[in-house]
Amino acid sequence: MKHNILILIFLFIAFISVAQEQKISVFSPDNLLQVTLVENGGNVFYSVNYKDVELLQQSPLGLVAVRGNFSENLKFISHKLQTISGKYTLNRTKQSEIEHKSNELVCSFANPQKQQIDIVFRVSNNNVAFCYRIPQISDISNIIVERELSGFRFAEGTSTFLTPQAPALSGWQHSKPSYEEEYTADAPLGTPSKYGEGYTFPALFHYQNFWLLLSETGVSSKYCGARLSEVTTDGLFTIAFPQMLENNGVGSVLPAMLLPAQTPWRTIAVGDNLKAIVETTAQFDLVEPLYEAKYDYKFGRGTWSWIMWQDASMNYKDQITFVDLAATLGYEFILIDALWDKNLGYAKMEELLQYAKNKGVAPFVWYNSNGFWNDAPQGPKGKMNTAIDRKKEMAWLQKMGVKGIKVDFFGGDKQETMRLYEDILSDANDYGLMVIFHGATLPRGWERMYPNYVGSEAVLASENLIFTQHACDNEAFNACLHPFIRNAVGSMEFGGVLLNKRLNRDNDGGTTRKTGDIFQLATAVLFQNAVQMFALTPNNLTEQPAFEIDFMKTVPTTWDETIFIDGYPGKYVVLARRNGEKWYIAGVNAEKQTKKITLKLDFLKEKNLTKFTDEKGLLPKTENVKLNKNNEITVEIQSNGGIVLF
Ligand code: CA
Repeated sequence: MKHNILILIFLFIAFISVAQEQKISVFSPDNLLQVTLVENGGNVFYSVNYKDVELLQQSPLGLVAVRGNFSENLKFISHKLQTISGKYTLNRTKQSEIEHKSNELVCSFANPQKQQIDIVFRVSNNNVAFCYRIPQISDISNIIVERELSGFRFAEGTSTFLTPQAPALSGWQHSKPSYEEEYTADAPLGTPSKYGEGYTFPALFHYQNFWLLLSETGVSSKYCGARLSEVTTDGLFTIAFPQMLENNGVGSVLPAMLLPAQTPWRTIAVGDNLKAIVETTAQFDLVEPLYEAKYDYKFGRGTWSWIMWQDASMNYKDQITFVDLAATLGYEFILIDALWDKNLGYAKMEELLQYAKNKGVAPFVWYNSNGFWNDAPQGPKGKMNTAIDRKKEMAWLQKMGVKGIKVDFFGGDKQETMRLYEDILSDANDYGLMVIFHGATLPRGWERMYPNYVGSEAVLASENLIFTQHACDNEAFNACLHPFIRNAVGSMEFGGVLLNKRLNRDNDGGTTRKTGDIFQLATAVLFQNAVQMFALTPNNLTEQPAFEIDFMKTVPTTWDETIFIDGYPGKYVVLARRNGEKWYIAGVNAEKQTKKITLKLDFLKEKNLTKFTDEKGLLPKTENVKLNKNNEITVEIQSNGGIVLF
């Protein structure tokens, strides 16, 4: 897992000094991606080119700290170039064996007070990442960052796929921001955000035939989560810190660090096709595990009553029904969601947990994170927000055979909240608990940093299909965004595969699902999260065709490899994922017309496949098919329909 560090010769670098301007370039190993750092009149900028096309124009770098200004009058001191390579295994995301290689440029600058800042760039074949390092400054041993200049300047003609940051303390019981806003696809550059608070990561951009996905990684308790500002008239987004009212106004919006310090990596996946975006592993390549796994965490599938049967199902009888459902399906987990403390109580809960254990179904148990940062009334409350309460609760959970917790309703992106996420994860590891976050921020490299971390919501998840018809009407559109944006940078706890036609308990009221059954099955493969709580209900066992349920019994949730096959964000998507020797190809279509595509599947050893499709009228069908001698197969995906090949 250690990086092999090789000092490189000057082949990768062009160092030009023209009059007052210092210019240094660093290239990707394949030489197609180029970052150029420029110091001009004491200001530092960078630009990004791919295949000689400028994708990010001169964009500012630097930061202003309370006790050190690194934003202007910077003097170039020195630079260092080296190759960074590494190899690691990760059992919880899109790929399990990962090798990476990048060229790293470290440029050191000093301000007039002779305080030093290092600007670090890593450039791999399809990814750029940068961060700042600040060494110990004589007698100063900590730094509070007031603002970053870090920017991203796009060319005119770039189109955007962005989601707005919600105003702090807005939304249900003042629980926002929770990364649950809608994305706008293909919007022109310069479109103001819905709430005037900028945009959350990840953010996708399209310029000519090029794609760029911005996000960040390596955000631990040592910094705040950042977002993108509103865009200026000349196409510049800058890094913005949390809003003052996040976390109920408590805690600073400014990050503070012990020196020597390193800021989180800001990442830019770049390519002339969407493969570079969907398959990026930069979020994990750039970070290291922050602690060892104390237990051998096992992932899998689960059932949960709350999604389709809602709050009324938090009673002993219904929970038993869903334990039994999990056992019937061969699922590893049951998620016991909100209100169990009130409706069951701890004594009855112990009976339920024992029942699950006897059935061979491991429980995940829901908690409210708070705390004082919102008014969400669901309990249990006040069990996860202090170390004392948390450890006591976790000791009980471990004793009862609970394998994971789902913690909901967090207070935003302030460093104080990042510390809470980290403390929950770290304590949970001591008690053998995996962690899912809901009502939460975007995970930023957490699958690798925290070995018991599973996934976060940070998406308009399946609950919205129950809440509004609008979400059902847009289900296919949103499903065609996630693999390119949200799920490209981190595990996504979506809670999907809804096989009821009407999304209520008796399958006879509530919102109406517009997508086909095979569409739903396809999302089990398209959406990646190492533990998937599927929205299946007992009636599905008898009402759906048997082949659908058989598939749901065997579909895996962890992947060794992921390959982008075809698609366009918001329109359609086809991916292939491998678990062991077995490949699953899944696609869905959000366009009005039926999509006819020829899939080239060279990686498949088998030529005979099972194919599921939503036929005309979205009627589910299964058949055996064969690839032709060129390993191709032509398929049709209906509007709002899906396809699965395996
Ligand atoms: Ca939610």
